[in-house]
Amino acid sequence: MKFTRRTLLKITGLGTMAIAMLPRVAFAGRNSLRTVRTGIQPGNKTRLVIETSERPSYTLSYPTNQLVVTLSNTAANASLAPAMASGTLITAITQVQSGDKLQIIADLSRPINEIPRDSIMLLNPNGDNDYRLVLDFVAGTGAGAKTATTTSVAHSTTPSRKYTIVIDAGHGGKDPGCIGKGGTKEKVVVLSVAKKLKSKLDAAGFQTYLTRSNDTYLKLAHRASIGEKKHADLFLSLHANANPSRSMQGFSIYTLSEKASDEEAAKLADAENAADKIDVSGFEQFDKDIRIALSSLQQHAVAEMSVEYANGCASAFKRAKITQQPGPDVRHAPFAVLRSTVPGALIELGHLSNATEEKLLKTSAHQDKLVAAIVKSVQAYNFDV
Ligand SMILES: [Zn+2]
Repeated sequence: MKFTRRTLLKITGLGTMAIAMLPRVAFAGRNSLRTVRTGIQPGNKTRLVIETSERPSYTLSYPTNQLVVTLSNTAANASLAPAMASGTLITAITQVQSGDKLQIIADLSRPINEIPRDSIMLLNPNGDNDYRLVLDFVAGTGAGAKTATTTSVAHSTTPSRKYTIVIDAGHGGKDPGCIGKGGTKEKVVVLSVAKKLKSKLDAAGFQTYLTRSNDTYLKLAHRASIGEKKHADLFLSLHANANPSRSMQGFSIYTLSEKASDEEAAKLADAENAADKIDVSGFEQFDKDIRIALSSLQQHAVAEMSVEYANGCASAFKRAKITQQPGPDVRHAPFAVLRSTVPGALIELGHLSNATEEKLLKTSAHQDKLVAAIVKSVQAYNFDV
């Protein structure tokens, strides 16, 4: 698991040359370092950008007056000169190859605290850019990031805490959701799956919360706000589908967007939003709120992380041989329950309107299979961005 990763660094008397390779060990990593650059952001934040050819797997540690980014399976780049902006907290950047790990060591003019997760972004390639790990930080007390000695430092942002997942069982109370021909109610099926999922994720070391643990009605905005309040890393809304065509079967997975990716996704969002009589126009206020809460780069990162999770979830379902609704792996629509700053997805577990799937969705064995696939997707998700 990613959150058990720990780095033990040995840092003694590294030079302050712009780039020094210590030691010079040839290593052909899967990932390679493209550029390193620094900059100043509003609020006098120092920005460190590390660009790599592949999606980086990394840990952070905080020796005295240094920030160390350790990239797994990455080869140093001897010819690289970092682009250093003036006025930042970074005075020098050094690459150190240590086995298959590459350490990017930033010497700092003042101590910093551990960088909070919302100040760390991992961006996908676009235009002329490859993958970029973006770290923003300000001068701090160094508290919580000290304990550094010349011999060892083992302080990483992520290993120290559990990742938090909010599980939302759709509908409830006066709102049954969709109802199968055999009388199976969506609100009952999804609550059962949500509870099973909670216990499996708890056992796997995650911190989880249910938006509802019994047959109660909750407004969609309230559900979304639970994700915010719990500072969730991931928000999963569980549903079951209905289709006018009773032959339609299979799961489908959705992320939030203002415009629906297709007609069917639009109809589904209307149906799921109908519990609160919310229409798509509510997006404008949401958009305004989220713009206030998050920088555009962060908004981009949340959307990107949601799609990444959703793709991984679709893969896990397919690997588990769960029937997939025909169409793209992941679709997008303006679901009210996903309107928050937390990355997340809405999972339609199957069709209650289909007689075979209605029967299946009621069985404990099939619910366990769905839960196992979701647990795998959560474990495979890269929380470190
Ligand atoms: Zn639903």
